[in-house]
Amino acid sequence: MTAARSNKDRILQISRWLAVTFPTPYPTMVRCVKKIAAERGSSPMHKKMGDDGYCVSEGQKIIIRIAVRRGVTRALLIDAIIHEWAHAVLMDEDSDKIGRHDDAWGIMYARIYHRFIDDGGYRASEGY
Ligand SMILES: [Zn+2]
Repeated sequence: MTAARSNKDRILQISRWLAVTFPTPYPTMVRCVKKIAAERGSSPMHKKMGDDGYCVSEGQKIIIRIAVRRGVTRALLIDAIIHEWAHAVLMDEDSDKIGRHDDAWGIMYARIYHRFIDDGGYRASEGY
């Protein structure tokens, strides 16, 4: 096991662990980007910062984007990938293309968070 050096490497490492531990209905691709445009109607502050993450299904695949901004904390990035992965797990042909924060999402988010933080996932993911 080697510790991931950059935030991007760590996010991709955690994504590989997530793909095995919490499978998604379609293959999920994770991309680290510099900025994600905030949704329409966001506050000026939010618009300036952009969103932390984004998850969308496109046909038979799911794409997650994580904003790896200069100076962002690793804890925030980990929260963002867990948040978006919970959307990805719940995406199937009947769901919206962009996930919502309904009860099912909240439960999945809690399950992933618990496995990662309290149940060895943080360490285990370092081997991926
Ligand atoms: Zn969300």
